[in-house]
Amino acid sequence: MEHRNQYPILTMVVPCYNEEEVIHETTSRLSSVIHNLIEDKQISPLSTILYVDDGSKDRTWENILELNLTNPFVSGLKLARNVGHQNALLAGLLHAKDKSDCVISMDADLQDDVNVIPEFIAKYKEGYDIVYGVRKDRSSDTYFKRNSAMMFYRFLRRMGVNIVTNHADYRLMSKRALEGLEQFKEVNLFLRGVIPLIGYKSTEVYYERHPRFAGESKYPLKRMLSFALDGIVSFSISPIRAVSLIGVIFSLLSIIMGIYVFVSKLYGNAVSGWASLMISIWFIGGVQLISLGLIGEYIGRIYKEVKNRPKYIAEVKLEAQVVQDMQDV
Ligand code: UDP
Ligand code: MG
Repeated sequence: MEHRNQYPILTMVVPCYNEEEVIHETTSRLSSVIHNLIEDKQISPLSTILYVDDGSKDRTWENILELNLTNPFVSGLKLARNVGHQNALLAGLLHAKDKSDCVISMDADLQDDVNVIPEFIAKYKEGYDIVYGVRKDRSSDTYFKRNSAMMFYRFLRRMGVNIVTNHADYRLMSKRALEGLEQFKEVNLFLRGVIPLIGYKSTEVYYERHPRFAGESKYPLKRMLSFALDGIVSFSISPIRAVSLIGVIFSLLSIIMGIYVFVSKLYGNAVSGWASLMISIWFIGGVQLISLGLIGEYIGRIYKEVKNRPKYIAEVKLEAQVVQDMQDV
């Protein structure tokens, strides 16, 4: 593997939705890590933090504007409305791509441990293009979230989706990996599923996930379910195959049933079975409805893809002072 020796320009991409309570603390911790890495000649002095304001309703953007004036590393990207974590992250990654050699994405709430950033950089220098931050354990999660996440991973894996277990969106990507990501045009974006499809050498870095520093989770149950459904349906056609299989099994069963009824009739002991008739109608009706729902799920997605709408609209782009100063000289 090719060793990278130069000082890479690092951009930390941090999507924020109503994070006014944490953004100052996040900035101070991140800038101290970046500062130390620059001092140690590990990364370029042009490295920055990019906050993507995902249409926050609180004072997050005002905070970013203030931080941009007081902290030389802080830059910002304001999206015109809330587009959700995955799209906001993509906006940040693609915005950062041209100006950076590598980017690290992380959450604003300090759940991801900033102390492993030097390990990410070390792996990048060893030649890896994608470095996944993997949590050592899930003890900081609620019982429900821990178990639902485990089931989700197991289910995805069984359906043939290649996804890194216990990896959220804390990861490093090289410039060329980002260029690869840019070519995935799908609208129902599930980054964790798409990124392994880019290819290139990847590795993992382990970290302890902390509880949220302040504020509350922006992933309520409804959003989590829709996220999970995106993950499953965008990556596999197995559910629709399963439906066809059930259809085949039921057709076979109905032939056997038909023969049974016919034979019973021949021997004259057929019962006028109102109950069994009703049960079959309801049951088959149910199966049909499930199948239709699933087909609708796919068609809905095809519809969205075909429209090919933009995933986000950027409203304001804010340069970090370190970058502005360099351009002045
Ligand atoms: N986030 C976002 N847009 C949204 C929801 C969340 O940019 O619509 C950001 C949020 O500010 C945070 C990250 O995505 O930086 C992860 O969200 P959160 O911490 O609420 O999720 P959890 O850790 O509870 O899964
Ligand atoms: Mg969080």
